[in-house]
Amino acid sequence: MSESLSRERLPGLQHEILEDIARGKSLQSVAERLCIWVESNAPGVACTILTIDTVAGVLCPVAAPSLPAEYSQALAGCKIGPNTGSCGTAAWRGEPVETIEIATDPLWVDYRELILPHGFEACWSSPIKSGDGVVIGTFAFYYRTRRGPSNLERELVDKCVHLCAIAIEHERNQSRIHQLAYFDAVTGLPNRSHFNEHARALLAALAAGESANVLFVDLDDFKAINDTLGHHAGDLLLGRVAQRLIECATDRAFVAHLGGDEFALIQATSRARSDATELAGLIVAAFDAPFELDGRVVTIGASIGIAQAIDATIDLAELSRRADMALHVAKSEGRNAWRFFDAELETALQSRRTLKADLVKAIDNGDFVLAYQPIFMLSTRRVIGAEALLRWHHPSRGQVSPAEFIPIAEEMGLIGVLGEWALRQAACAAADWPRQIRIAVNLSPLQLVMPGLVRNVVKIIDECGLAPERLDLEVTESALLAENAATRIALYALRDVGMRISLDDFGTGYSSLRSLRSFPFDKIKIDQSFVADIGLNADATAIIRAIVALAHDLGIKTAAEGIETDVQLDWLCAAGCTEGQGYLMARPMPLEPLRALIDSQVGPRESVQ
Ligand code: C2E
Ligand code: MG
Ligand code: MG
Repeated sequence: MSESLSRERLPGLQHEILEDIARGKSLQSVAERLCIWVESNAPGVACTILTIDTVAGVLCPVAAPSLPAEYSQALAGCKIGPNTGSCGTAAWRGEPVETIEIATDPLWVDYRELILPHGFEACWSSPIKSGDGVVIGTFAFYYRTRRGPSNLERELVDKCVHLCAIAIEHERNQSRIHQLAYFDAVTGLPNRSHFNEHARALLAALAAGESANVLFVDLDDFKAINDTLGHHAGDLLLGRVAQRLIECATDRAFVAHLGGDEFALIQATSRARSDATELAGLIVAAFDAPFELDGRVVTIGASIGIAQAIDATIDLAELSRRADMALHVAKSEGRNAWRFFDAELETALQSRRTLKADLVKAIDNGDFVLAYQPIFMLSTRRVIGAEALLRWHHPSRGQVSPAEFIPIAEEMGLIGVLGEWALRQAACAAADWPRQIRIAVNLSPLQLVMPGLVRNVVKIIDECGLAPERLDLEVTESALLAENAATRIALYALRDVGMRISLDDFGTGYSSLRSLRSFPFDKIKIDQSFVADIGLNADATAIIRAIVALAHDLGIKTAAEGIETDVQLDWLCAAGCTEGQGYLMARPMPLEPLRALIDSQVGPRESVQ
């Protein structure tokens, strides 16, 4: 026993090591410091600390400052087992193993040639255990003479094993925290904050002539998979997608999962556009093959938005905004495609910003009017009602389509005001029409979840003097997709007070049939895209026939939108569609001509309510 090793110095060691751990020093540096302290206090001892990969059951050398490097390298990845030298066996048994003579100990048969040439004759290894008793490492003394440990050495090792357990567990906890903070649990990919950190560092380190590409990837119709196959299948799919993205990216890009069905890649390159195109092409192609999810085969596409930073003037926030913008355009242009952010998009972005500001002013100034499109009974070609459609005459841009400004109003939280205004105008106008002429008003899905909607609608039509039975409210199936209980409660309440509910743009959403099951609609409005294909596309006509038959069986009326030709009108009549609207019969028009049309068909005498 060395004279220099004394009990009094042990608390000092403990203090130093715990301080290192608390200061966040790496496990390796803590372990090395511990070994060096022990070796300098217990001469003749060479110390090693190994951790155990508990999943693979293999040794991972952490510190062995006085053993030959090739010996440590040889131990790395060795399986623990019943005859695997002192350390592997101590880890296997969960108890200390003392080998006084390596040359003859059967535990060392497969390992002795690795160590004997270096002059080590004996080895004493102790398992390091976690708080819950799992072996997470080994702490060993190698001696150059054939001997076992002294009592004082045993005390020292007890203390060291304890310190090692703290250090290893601390490191594992840290790496678990890191994993949780920086990686996404569903896909195992870096998460948004990791992506942001990596991207910022990449942008800051761009070399001259280099630029960065950011690709935002979004799955097409992922929601439908989640809705129809369940969240477990959705999660499995995200994992498979992550795998394919990693295969596409290889070492040319950093891949992250931003959340939901959104992924992002970033790369630094000297050939910005061609590298981005190549990567985007690979990604889109990677979605050609179907995905297998627990025995079910699913096909899904991906849309990609690409933004480039050719110098340091664009920060990550701007780059992300551009990639996002390009992604939206890629999606709206047909999905399963990619789109670069460019000057044209920038202009569109700018004009959208201006439009937002103008919309606020227009609402304040009351710059909206309603147009009314007559709805006809197809068999008699007589007007049975009219749909109120918002019109905005912009001072410099002229007519702005509601298809453009309604989504902006929704985004800005203005749809409630605008929708109520439209309802009041339409209801007050229709109150004056013959009783059999109905009025249809569009409701945004967002209005349906607004508290107090039903009360407001009832109040408005009451103030206008319109009977609820004369009001049709049109909702699109996206209103029902969110599976929002509030939406259905509102729809039932509106119907309970006598209004009728139509399902607008039928056939354009993800799950039209599902919508029909969610609520007992009074009318289905067949989307104009199907009508436009009558006589041109056999599929569209088959779909219309099926919708009409289905609606008939369910006792729901059908109306066709966008009738532009006699051929379409005749075909729809023959197919059994009951109502229709379209430019062929009448375009949306101001109130006065509509009133004249109504009077010409119904006769002013009948106009009295
Ligand atoms: P929607 O409710 O499906 O309205 C029918 C759209 O088809 C109208 O477009 C109408 O002008 C157009 N249309 C009618 N007949 C034909 C035709 O024969 N050919 C073609 N090509 N188009 C025809 P509009 O007025 O541009 O409205 C677009 C959409 O904006 C509406 O679709 C509706 O979803 C929304 N919208 C309009 N007004 C309001 C409103 O007051 N509130 C809400 N929430 N949405 C509205
Ligand atoms: Mg409509
Ligand atoms: Mg429609």
